[in-house]
Amino acid sequence: MNLDWQVCSRARLSRDARFDGKFFIGVLSSRVYCRPICPAPTAKEKNCRYFPSAAAAAEAGFRPCLRCRPECSPGTPAWLGTSNTVSRALRLISDSGLEDGGVEVLAERLGVGSRHLRRLFLQHLGATPIAVAHTRRLHFAKKLIDETSLPMSHVAQAAGFGCVRRFNAAIRQTYHRTPTQIRRLAHQKTIFPENQYLFRLRFRPPYQWESILAFLAPRATPGVEEVSLGRYRRTISLNGNDGYFEVSLDQRREALSVHIQFDDSQALFVIIERIRRMFDLGADWQAIAPRLRTDPALAGRVEAVPGLRVPGCWNGFELATRAILGQQITVKGATALAGRIVNTLGRPFSATSGLTHLFPAPEVLADARLTSVGLTSARAETIRALARAVCDGQISFEGIAESDAFLTRLCEIPGIGQWTAQYVAMRALGEPDAFPSGDLGLLRALELKSVRELERRAEAWRPWRAYAAMYLWNVAGEGKIRGNKVVAARARNVIVEKAAPCKHFSIIV
Ligand SMILES: [Zn+2]
Repeated sequence: MNLDWQVCSRARLSRDARFDGKFFIGVLSSRVYCRPICPAPTAKEKNCRYFPSAAAAAEAGFRPCLRCRPECSPGTPAWLGTSNTVSRALRLISDSGLEDGGVEVLAERLGVGSRHLRRLFLQHLGATPIAVAHTRRLHFAKKLIDETSLPMSHVAQAAGFGCVRRFNAAIRQTYHRTPTQIRRLAHQKTIFPENQYLFRLRFRPPYQWESILAFLAPRATPGVEEVSLGRYRRTISLNGNDGYFEVSLDQRREALSVHIQFDDSQALFVIIERIRRMFDLGADWQAIAPRLRTDPALAGRVEAVPGLRVPGCWNGFELATRAILGQQITVKGATALAGRIVNTLGRPFSATSGLTHLFPAPEVLADARLTSVGLTSARAETIRALARAVCDGQISFEGIAESDAFLTRLCEIPGIGQWTAQYVAMRALGEPDAFPSGDLGLLRALELKSVRELERRAEAWRPWRAYAAMYLWNVAGEGKIRGNKVVAARARNVIVEKAAPCKHFSIIV
């Protein structure tokens, strides 16, 4: 554990939201643990203990605060930088839908020994993998109790407790209250229809919501996704159920508001985790910014537009398909092709206006005649080959423990090269260091002539090259770099509805 107590202390006393989720404070007098932003009166320093994770505070015998609600924090940064293994393990725990596979299974998937994994967790998070998973289950259960009207038996199932008895016991032990008493405290004002939910997902500021929408808007697949009036919406399909979600910014709370319509409440954890990743809510801007500022060409941009995120995706297969469609054509052209594919092969969906289809599953695209919607025969074959590989189980976009092995398999598909693979790594795997160095837009943004030159320059941005790419695309979209200075071509705040696909993004999806 490398917590600097002086930094923690300053963040706690100033209630600094940038540190939310990066550490927790145990207060000895009350035996409660809090987020740095807790509105309760600040405790004396000698009464405070600092923990790198909620699980570590829980293991030390502290209960979650009912005021600042540790379950609502943005959580441990998605990328711990110092330990890829721990970051990947946390991601696998998120992917698992909180099912209890045990530490042995987790370690095996990561290709390390279980004792080593345990040691790494203790070192970086101050708690064992089992304790981390247990705390996540508890926190998610608490969120469902507070923010939904789901019956308690459904909450127990959705949070991975298996049976109601275990759930009741865990909640009582942690909160010294029954689930029903906790729900009464929450004073829910709005009761939604049975299959609809509203969640608030916190981020660590700064967060460039407008920029993320400006990136997603021209790429939104017609019928499946929609960006309008400051909101992002899309259809989703999971375990045989269909639904949709809508995301908007809640600036006051430093959170995204997420409205979900989905019949199966057991899928909520996975849906929320995917949305958190899609909007890069786990990013730790304080870790990313200093590295990007070292490059004079990025420094001005980072100052002007702080908190740019790497947009992820809802579904890896869908994103990879979009990446193939976008090879060497404009964003506008790729989006139009995607719209035609969806219109012809997607499953109709009619729950809400504007969203008319679900993106076709791999089974549908594996044998589809894609040239009839305007694809070249080579591109059509690449998409079919990818779809077949997913159907055969040779490639799976879920539960990826080893990105390099996955990307090697992906590149074995004829028509998928490094650019596509790195783009997929950036947006589907959430690899913060992924970098599509062959991208024309990136070269142009820095006025470089060769890929090798760009790769050399990008060495200094590790392990955050994906964020550097976002800034360079942002530069290519909004201004030009002359010498080392960024000259803004447009106003800083992009008006999303008017954001036109940029010509510079010629081979970017
Ligand atoms: Zn608190």
